[in-house]
Amino acid sequence: MTRLDVGPESSVVHPDEPAAALRQAQGPEAGPRALLLEFRAVPLGGVRGMEVHRALPQRDLPMVGAWCFLDRFGPQEARMRVEPHPHIGLQTATWPFVGEVHHRDSVDSDVVISRGALNLMTSGAGISHSEYSIGEDAVPLDALQLWIALPDSRRAGAPDFERHVDLPHIVLAAEEGAEGEAIIVLGELAGVTSPATVYTPIVGAELRIPAGSRIRLPLRPEWEYALAGIEGAASVSIDEPTTIDPQHFLYLGTGRDEVVIGGDTETVLFLLGGEPFEDDIVMWWNFVGRTHEDIVEARDAWEQGSPRFGHVVGHGDERIPAPPLPGVRLTQRRRRV
Ligand code: MN
Repeated sequence: MTRLDVGPESSVVHPDEPAAALRQAQGPEAGPRALLLEFRAVPLGGVRGMEVHRALPQRDLPMVGAWCFLDRFGPQEARMRVEPHPHIGLQTATWPFVGEVHHRDSVDSDVVISRGALNLMTSGAGISHSEYSIGEDAVPLDALQLWIALPDSRRAGAPDFERHVDLPHIVLAAEEGAEGEAIIVLGELAGVTSPATVYTPIVGAELRIPAGSRIRLPLRPEWEYALAGIEGAASVSIDEPTTIDPQHFLYLGTGRDEVVIGGDTETVLFLLGGEPFEDDIVMWWNFVGRTHEDIVEARDAWEQGSPRFGHVVGHGDERIPAPPLPGVRLTQRRRRV
């Protein structure tokens, strides 16, 4: 057989190797992975003066299921002032560990959330919101902010906001030592479903593994998963034991029905998973679309003060302007690992 010696960007298709050509067009096949990725520091600068650590998107891994963005802000002392800004095509989920976040949006939500509560905002075709810490001084803050891409059937729909304070907990059976616990923040794990509204089959769950125990985490082979380190360090028994700590994010791929996780210290991880997403997406600034044109249209609408994004309750004219578009067409990203 002739070897195809072309890079991943090449559109050359060799007639003798239709399978390879197809793989090239569709990205790598699904299956188990054990890919340890890093959270990278992203300075937000400006009036925000905050640094966040970003696990998703990664250059070669734009999504895990419908999850397309994972930032951790904190632990740090900060005065958070994220002024009104728009979103399209996604849900944002805010999951605090420490401190309080004051959320206001253009569907008249005005809420403060803290540990144990989930804020879930669905942009549909357009929403805008602000996020502040409480008071004028720097305060301890630590939270995850996640984005979930909306499927084509929902992304042009109406904006919405939900707050959940009573999320289901499940026991994670131990192979050794004490049992673990999971909070089902979004979607479904081990047959238990969060009340938060989602539009594709996914899971987002906080896992707590006691010191010195080994727990079994049940997975669905048809879904892809990743684990983000939050606190402590745990070893995941896959091809070779891999340690996840708060600097790391482990992509597990599909095709697994469980993983065993254990460590010497008490560990907190955040599990992301879901059915591989139906479409490749175009993501730029705060927007998720399918084409360059989707993004340009949303950017123009925000810059022109279009009613598409409404008005954030309790705010005047303050807003974050859209950055300039890059000089090239925005393109869809796909998994290359
Ligand atoms: Mn936002």
